[in-house]
Amino acid sequence: MKASQFLISTLKEAPADAEVASHRLMTRAGMIKKLGAGIYSYMPMGLRVIRKVEAIVREEMNRAGAIEVTMPVIQPAELWQETGRFEKMGPELLRIKDRHARDFVVQPTSEEVITDIARQEFRSYKQLPKNFYQIQTKFRDERRPRFGLMRGREFTMKDAYSFDRDMDAAKQSYQVMAQAYRRIFDRFGLSYRAVAADSGAIGGDLSEEFQVIAATGEDAIVYCPTSDYAANMEKAEALAPQQARGAATQPLTKTATPGKATCADVAELLNLPLKNTVKSLVLATDELDEQGAVAKTQVWLLLLRGDHDMNEVKVGKVPGLNNTFRFATLPEIEAHFGCKPGYLGPLNLVQPVKLVVDREVAVMSDWVCGANEADFHMTGVNWGRDLPEPELVADLRNIVAGDPSPDGQGVLAIERGIEVGHVFYLGTKYSRAMNATFLDVNGKPQFLEMGCYGIGITRLPAAAIEQNHDERGIIWPDAIAPFTVAICPIGPDRSPEVKAAAEALYAELMAAGVDVILDDRGERPGAMFADWELIGVPHRVTIGDKGLKEGLVEYQHRRDAAATKVAVGEVFAHLQ
Ligand code: ATP
Ligand code: MG
Ligand code: MG
Ligand code: MG
Repeated sequence: MKASQFLISTLKEAPADAEVASHRLMTRAGMIKKLGAGIYSYMPMGLRVIRKVEAIVREEMNRAGAIEVTMPVIQPAELWQETGRFEKMGPELLRIKDRHARDFVVQPTSEEVITDIARQEFRSYKQLPKNFYQIQTKFRDERRPRFGLMRGREFTMKDAYSFDRDMDAAKQSYQVMAQAYRRIFDRFGLSYRAVAADSGAIGGDLSEEFQVIAATGEDAIVYCPTSDYAANMEKAEALAPQQARGAATQPLTKTATPGKATCADVAELLNLPLKNTVKSLVLATDELDEQGAVAKTQVWLLLLRGDHDMNEVKVGKVPGLNNTFRFATLPEIEAHFGCKPGYLGPLNLVQPVKLVVDREVAVMSDWVCGANEADFHMTGVNWGRDLPEPELVADLRNIVAGDPSPDGQGVLAIERGIEVGHVFYLGTKYSRAMNATFLDVNGKPQFLEMGCYGIGITRLPAAAIEQNHDERGIIWPDAIAPFTVAICPIGPDRSPEVKAAAEALYAELMAAGVDVILDDRGERPGAMFADWELIGVPHRVTIGDKGLKEGLVEYQHRRDAAATKVAVGEVFAHLQ
């Protein structure tokens, strides 16, 4: 590629809403362009990265025996009604209507459609196992789209679905995928950790997230540096012995970031019409296990601005929840948390707060809290015991660094991660709901055993940048760099020798299949170097008159402090 024929559109300034390095740098490097909240165009420079991510994922999925399909982005609601997800899924699911007022969804994932395909295709156990994958646009109406491609509303996911004849075979398919994921993330050249994740009631231990380690990650992960133990915080907490951490008498401390959130924002958060008065409500939700017994009780505290109907809330208008509600008493809260509900009262909470009842200590994070001022709410309000820093709240719950590892092999450490992949054993949850069966060896119909496996294709470049950047810009791992090598001729207009040498090297590298870009824009060296450092091309070859006279060019890796001189004829060998 020649730079003059490509689109290089670097920016000096990052957009004001860019909070993290990847968002700032991808925008400044001209890789993405924002169209709306969580909606981005992938510009040519960014698309090259995304295509490389896709190629690696595709290659490894194929190697693992998965077969590629493409399912529609817009899907009829009927299938989603069969599994109940059309109603249950909450506002993250984008529902749309066609001209005949028929309901559709924009796929956030595709279990329903693939199960529908499976129930038509699979007749006999002889056709199994099968694993289908697609690399496709997804839409999730995220409550807080942010961090550029990291948490978009429209994004690209690789989603795969395995079908097996029984649980053992399904677990094998799961292991094949978990192995493929390790190969994939190894190839990206990133530091990551596979951590156990919560699989709900169905999966036992068969759910793992692949977390790229980065301080800006939204997830907390718990691991033991001297053993293989690693889990996300949710999972680790679920398994942790239920011990009180900190004395119940210790006072709660409060941190808050004053932020402007309008009543309309809050109404959107709650999915409720909000008016002027403040009302409070305490709800408990019982999560039922498969036998219908209460598996877990959570208490939700709502102090609402508004005069809406409490019954409406009671029947399940709290977003993201699909379990049974009951009212909990204030003393119940007090008994469990060792703090008076009245203490919470003055906050005028306007976001449902999840307080887990079966623990002594509640750390409540990221509340939105109303003030007695119109259209002004505090955001990021955090309550907890011994809160050193508000952003570490998630790390300070049932588990803290230094706790003994559950495997007895050492002590726990906590770090932050970005979830780039997720493998999940589903069992017969979807096949049962959609009556997807096959005939077993005895000719008896059985429900298909399933697993699902996602990779955030467009989140991955953002995660790579969070891990690999400096003050000058991005530092791409070779595997996903938009270009591997940039050739920078100095003053090619003045020096035909420089121009010819640059062209010759370009031709040589192209012929060898190297992903090279020749910067023939005629920019000054400073501007040219700044661009390539911002864009993050890992290898740069600079060709100048002076060096050429001695048969030398300059090579610099993006991580090198200075260039080294290399003989013109040895550049290719040097790059290997
Ligand atoms: P998160 O916890 O970050 O919301 P998730 O658990 O909801 O992610 P999954 O349903 O497991 O996501 O989807 C599979 C993969 O898709 C995730 O591991 C992640 O890499 C990616 N992904 C999910 N949501 C987004 C998003 N809003 N923007 C970009 N990638 C996403
Ligand atoms: Mg999510
Ligand atoms: Mg997740
Ligand atoms: Mg997930």
